[in-house]
Amino acid sequence: MTAADGFVSGTQKIVDHGADSARYNVVVLGDGYRAADMAQYHADVQAFVDAFRQTAPFGDLWCGINVHRVDVTSTDSGADDPLTCGDGSAGSGATPRTYFDATFCSGSAIRRLLTCDSVRARGVAQSQVPATHLTLVIVNSPLYGGSGGDIATFSTAPGAAEIALHEIGHSAFGLADEYEYYAGCSSGEAGHDVYAGGEPVEPNVTRNTNRATIKWRSVLTSPQDALPTTANANCAQCDPQGNPRAPDYVGAYEGARYMHCGCYRPAYDCRMRTLGQPFCGACQKTIRDTLAPYLPLAWQGLWWKSPAASESGWGLNVAHQGDIVFATWFTYDAAGKAWWLSMTAPLVSGGNRFSGALHATHGPPFSAVPFDPTQVVATPVGTGTLTFNDADNGTFAYTVNGISQSKAITRQVFGPLPACRFGTQANLAAATNYQDLWWNAPAGSESGWGVNITHQGSTLFVTWFTYDVDGSPLWLSATAQKTAALTFSGTLYRTTGPAFNANPWSPAAVAATPVGSVTLTFANGNAAAFAYTVNGVSQKKQITRQIFQAPGTVCR
Ligand SMILES: [Zn+2]
Repeated sequence: MTAADGFVSGTQKIVDHGADSARYNVVVLGDGYRAADMAQYHADVQAFVDAFRQTAPFGDLWCGINVHRVDVTSTDSGADDPLTCGDGSAGSGATPRTYFDATFCSGSAIRRLLTCDSVRARGVAQSQVPATHLTLVIVNSPLYGGSGGDIATFSTAPGAAEIALHEIGHSAFGLADEYEYYAGCSSGEAGHDVYAGGEPVEPNVTRNTNRATIKWRSVLTSPQDALPTTANANCAQCDPQGNPRAPDYVGAYEGARYMHCGCYRPAYDCRMRTLGQPFCGACQKTIRDTLAPYLPLAWQGLWWKSPAASESGWGLNVAHQGDIVFATWFTYDAAGKAWWLSMTAPLVSGGNRFSGALHATHGPPFSAVPFDPTQVVATPVGTGTLTFNDADNGTFAYTVNGISQSKAITRQVFGPLPACRFGTQANLAAATNYQDLWWNAPAGSESGWGVNITHQGSTLFVTWFTYDVDGSPLWLSATAQKTAALTFSGTLYRTTGPAFNANPWSPAAVAATPVGSVTLTFANGNAAAFAYTVNGVSQKKQITRQIFQAPGTVCR
């Protein structure tokens, strides 16, 4: 290329989860897009970003990822397509002038091998985004092709992005090819019968079938099934047998890393073996481990007015999963009666700013049997915006019934503060900190009421969002101490206080009246019995975590 073949016009941060210095930065470049093709380029990048997010486990890790789109204009459209190629295919002979000089049949061997000037591409990425971790180049051509290396290149042909996802497995995560041949099972290839080298360095292939020491032992599907899962009876060829287990089963299958025998792969199939397949469990674990340092702390927890205790009596419970915050605000109405509002607030920007509509909700009395969720009615009363400045400080700005206010907030601390992260633990039952929003089990069966649990040390602060005998919103709270393993108990209080908009808001005017007791008994990190007595009414409900974006957030 020459300077006349195009120009870089700017960079847009199209997925923003916070400062580049703290996140995993993906930079997308385009080649063969003319000025007139820029709208198409933006659409192509977005389509790739959507597909990337849909590719497990990247969706779970999304809040640790920033995506930057660099707008690169080429003089001509498309990519070089040589007339002849080593694989015998015929090309158009096109030689468009493009900024990164993308070409099919790179090295004159295989038509689908699409590369570009990777030195130049990396240079542009790093000059636009100094904290770049992963560089991708989308080539504006309907011909199928792609390649890996220190940058991944792929065309806009259907399925071509799969090439990039496989190549990212190599370049960004150090994964091996899991296929058990080199040129092909039917190629008659020699030298690929039995692996004779040392233990491979890659995390997804091994010569070790000892379940106690195999490198992916933490993700084996079965704690007792014999390993290997399959053995190849004839090492002169690829193993022809089908998968004796479920598609997502992780064990040890003989045949991997270009060898028919002596080397094992974690799953029967994987994106590192066959394009279009999901990453296997071992590969997903490697990707999760690699991105874990980039995951932000979740804002999950109990917040109140800053400085601490200055407005003791109201608070804000934040459940934070992925790019969504669900907040429940416990405060008081104009008559001083306990009142709660809730807000589903999607991420607005920077990983730290969330905005949504505030709702006041009416529903069946807490003691109704059965509790009919179809009778719950949520009425919008305004809007709220949460902005977090650091791990422990933020601002809650709201407009409720036409009244606009803003309060500095901080975390309410009554014990050792846990650190909460989204997406780091798929098995919620294994969690030992219970801080989260819980609701009736099974999930969705009594939608409309919930229990926010703040868990610090051996103490739970419980706020229960439900409805009074007249159907009006009611919240009760309790400080529950650990009384036995997995059991927490405390007195339930009903509270009155100054209206949410009182200025000044005096905590001295808050009055808490004991109305009963509560006991939470946890079967595991995702199941508990919620037993309470309120004004002489004793009931017991099974509760579970409310997951609005899988796999949820776990605190430790
Ligand atoms: Zn794999």
